[in-house]
Amino acid sequence: MRDMAKELLKMTRDEVAEAVADFPVAILPLGATEQHGHHLPLGVDVYLAEGISRKLAQRTGALLLPSLPFGYSWVWRDIPGTVSLEQHRVEGVIKDVAKSVQRYGIQLLVLVNGHDANNASMKYAVRELQDELDLTVIHLFYPNLDNVMKTHCESPTWHGMVHACEFETSLMLALCPEMVDMKKAVREYPKKPLLYGKSTISLGDLSKSGVYGDATLATKYKGEAMITEFLNTMEACLLQAYKSS
Ligand SMILES: [Zn+2]
Repeated sequence: MRDMAKELLKMTRDEVAEAVADFPVAILPLGATEQHGHHLPLGVDVYLAEGISRKLAQRTGALLLPSLPFGYSWVWRDIPGTVSLEQHRVEGVIKDVAKSVQRYGIQLLVLVNGHDANNASMKYAVRELQDELDLTVIHLFYPNLDNVMKTHCESPTWHGMVHACEFETSLMLALCPEMVDMKKAVREYPKKPLLYGKSTISLGDLSKSGVYGDATLATKYKGEAMITEFLNTMEACLLQAYKSS
């Protein structure tokens, strides 16, 4: 394991040139700026994607790009602090980053996402890039999430959703414990309306606390164990994609 991640923003042009010649792989963390209950900050999705990406960069020697702080957060748009991009713009930013890094020799771009609503944007951006560029792009969102949660979390998800719950709170306790206020953590499982997913009724309308699940059961230990599992799979995916790039 290497000591320091190669963080693009802290490097000179010469250091970047050297890093790309050495291992032409870059990691782009994708986050969001949106509410995560009363016990977590708005930047959870950024901090998680970035924290995991930094560890992946340390393990592999890939270049760590600056994190995208905004995603598509329409459902929370009326809650103070939310900053949302239009969905197609998230795709556009991913594509622009890919075109940029490809120009100076990056052969594999790894998208590491911390925000569920970015998944659609990643998938379509990567498909379009396949036709437009000679660059391999893979997109990762908490690989094998269901199994990892089954092993390490005690509380059920709210209809498969992970938001400000035992899962995300545990990851935050592992990566940025100073930002978590467990005294304010709650358990909330709102009733799911018939028209949820079939209308504009969305997450922002349902949970009073903004939590979906049981944040009170979160621990640092669970977070660390899950992050290790994610990293093992992510490292394997990165190396396999690099081999075939
Ligand atoms: Zn989140």
